[in-house]
Formats: sequence, structure tokens, C-alpha cells
Amino acid sequence: MTGEFDIIRQYFTRNSADPSLRVGIGDDGAVIQPTAGHELVVVTDTLVAGRHFPADARADDIGWRALAVNLSDCAAMAATPRFAFLALSLPEANDTWLEEFAAGFFELAERDNVVLAGGDTTRGPLVITVTVLGEVPSGKAVLRSGARVGDRVLVTGWPGRARAALETWQRNETVPDGLQQPWRRPDPRTAAIDVLRESASACIDVSDGLVADLGHLLTASGGDSPLGATLEADALPIADALVDAVDEEAVECVLFGGDDYELLFTCAPESAIQVREQLAAAGVTATAIGVVEDAEGLRLATSDGNTWELPMHGFDHFSEAGS
Ligand code: ADP
Ligand code: MG
Repeated sequence: MTGEFDIIRQYFTRNSADPSLRVGIGDDGAVIQPTAGHELVVVTDTLVAGRHFPADARADDIGWRALAVNLSDCAAMAATPRFAFLALSLPEANDTWLEEFAAGFFELAERDNVVLAGGDTTRGPLVITVTVLGEVPSGKAVLRSGARVGDRVLVTGWPGRARAALETWQRNETVPDGLQQPWRRPDPRTAAIDVLRESASACIDVSDGLVADLGHLLTASGGDSPLGATLEADALPIADALVDAVDEEAVECVLFGGDDYELLFTCAPESAIQVREQLAAAGVTATAIGVVEDAEGLRLATSDGNTWELPMHGFDHFSEAGS
């Protein structure tokens, strides 16, 4: 049986030449020299087996996801992720599982230049907590609260696919290829960070669903007088794979499905085109889907001239209670 220290050494200790990391794994704490003129953005997220992922999910996908959800939060703040901390509670020391978990975790860590700088390893139910330290030039973090009336609302990628995949899987059907990646390995939009830092007025990552998270952003931005928005149904980005999988439910998946980890952000109307171009150059597709308004509430405008009220704080179409 592999011991705690063997696990740390064998699976989680990787040499890193990052000069900001004065002391990494092996001492009681990490010692980090922050970049001059920067602020730290600290994010953390816990994944519980059976709640945030199926207990028998592939270990490499779990490792990827545990880091991905944190990198998504960093991206939503326009902070460049630098260091990760991994608190792992494991029912047993299964070498095959650990090897695969570490492979998925480090695949994403290496892609986004994130260094694992410490953590904790303990026996217990399968629960994974990752904390990430990101850096942003002082005063440049993008908050949820910065949206203004007239700003455009944009979203990256093709939301809704993770939800459609989950529904398919829950029906014991095979999840189509086009939905596998967003479901198993959500792609945090690290590539969008630099552009958003310069141009976004507010940002949030889509974890609860586009409508729910837009509601959070508008509430945070409105202060005492809540803001609203109108979304254009025809402008919503709808992936072909989503239509193939769920047909006429595609729009509902886009609006209410969560867990895609796309970024939902606002920017001044005059910079919307340029932001899209800059994001495209960075490899991130973004779509303008609506406008921030001073009339409270969320509305969906359809091409036939109708406007539908959307529930501002999210409506879990998929929950049994429907609330
Ligand atoms: P302590 O007993 O002082 O709390 P630990 O034995 O928990 O220390 O950890 C020893 C070192 O290994 C520390 O540097 C800690 O950050 C690191 N560490 C422990 N678990 C992990 C893990 N799962 N991933 C990365 N580093 C870890
Ligand atoms: Mg100690």
C-alpha cells in the first residue's frame, strides 16, 4: 500500500523552474514571490464524487476538471493563473487511479503554465479541493459589478453542450462525440484573459447557466437599482452537436444549462467588434447576444417580434421542483 508521502512524491511533485516559487512542495508551506505591481486573485472549488462528477468517472477527467473549474474562475476575473494547491481526500491509494488523475490534472496545468505548489493528502471519501492563485496588474481585475446600461453582452464558445451531454448520459444513452469534450473536459478560457482585462466591463463564468449567471452579473452591477438585459434569440450561439442531440430543446440548454465554463461578459458597445476580433485572434470565439438595459429583468427577443420574460435569477428547467 502506497503511503501519503509516497503519493505526494510519486504523483504530485514535479520539478518547476518557476522563479516566483521560492519554496514549493516539501516544506510546511509554499513561499511565493508575487510579481511586482500585481494583485493576487485567489479562487477555490471543491468537487465531491457523486455530486460534481460520477463516482466512476475517468480519473484523468476528474483531475482535469478539478483544475479547470478553478482556472475558469481565474479567467472570469481576468487573472493569469500561476499556482495551484490540491487537497485530496481518497478512500484508498489506488495507483492506477492516482496516475490517471495526475495525468489529467497536469495536462491542463502544463497547457496553462500553472505550477502545483502544495496541497494536502488524506484518507476519506473522494473529495477534491483545488485552490489557484492568479495574478492581475493592480486594479485590473474584472469584476461582476462593472456592467453599465448600453453595454453589449457577449459569451464565449457554445454553451449548453455540457448540460445536453449530462441529460443524455442520465438517460443511459451514449453521449455523442460532439458533446464529449465540453462534458468530460470543460475548457477554461485562459486564452481570453488578456483581452478581457483590457476591454470587459464585467465578467462571470457560466457555471449555473447563462441566464442565472447573467442575473448574478446584473445584480452585482446594478447596486441599489438592479439592471436588466434583452437577449436576441437569433444571436445565441447554438452548436450543431447540440441541435443534433436535443433538437428543439437546444435554446433551453443554451440559456439554462450549466457547467460549460464559458465566459459571459459585457463591454462598451463601441468596442464589441474589436473585442470579438481580438478574442478570435487568441483562439476564442465570442458572440454578442444582447444589451444591458436599465429596465430590471431579463428578456428574450425572438425574430417574430415577441419578447419573453426570462427568470432573472435563473430557472432550473431541469430540476424536478422546477424552481
Ligand atoms: P504537513 O504534515 O506539514 O501538513 P503534509 O505532509 O500534508 O505536510 O505535506 C507535505 C508537503 O506536501 C507540503 O509541502 C504539502 O503542500 C505537499 N502536499 C501534500 N499533499 C499534496 C498534494 N496532494 N499535492 C501537492 N502537494 C501536496
Ligand atoms: Mg507541517
